[in-house]
Amino acid sequence: MSKSAPPTENSPIHACPSCKSPLRPLVGKMGPFWGCSGFPNCKTTLNDVDGKPTTEINEEYRCPICTRRLVKADGNYWFCSGYSKGCKITLEDEEGVPKTAFRCQECGSLLVKRNGKNGYFWGCSEYPQCSTTYSDLEDRPNY
Ligand SMILES: [Zn+2]
Ligand SMILES: [Zn+2]
Ligand SMILES: [Zn+2]
Repeated sequence: MSKSAPPTENSPIHACPSCKSPLRPLVGKMGPFWGCSGFPNCKTTLNDVDGKPTTEINEEYRCPICTRRLVKADGNYWFCSGYSKGCKITLEDEEGVPKTAFRCQECGSLLVKRNGKNGYFWGCSEYPQCSTTYSDLEDRPNY
């Protein structure tokens, strides 16, 4: 029984992007990551995001809350690579770029743009625990 099916999108087998060998989950000093089973011939390692290896990390974009890198997900949004560490930040995708996020100056959570009786305003995403709001000034909170 050595027939190995090619990995599919739903398969738990993740192939090395360089040599196509299966990746194996490893745990290092900096937390979990994935290493190529072709090691030491192939030294490819990938970041672990939510239990899966990812090559989709973009160095340019950082989580506005914990400053870890943001990862583009299928379905037009970005999520924080600190997801498995408890950071649940997701940002909408705007033409391949994570939408700019603004933080509540009181509690540090993200602000959400809302449409109220008197027009747009920014409210804390921790509402009702935090009831901080800011008025809208050219599509950003007026701190
Ligand atoms: Zn490899
Ligand atoms: Zn984060
Ligand atoms: Zn707040």
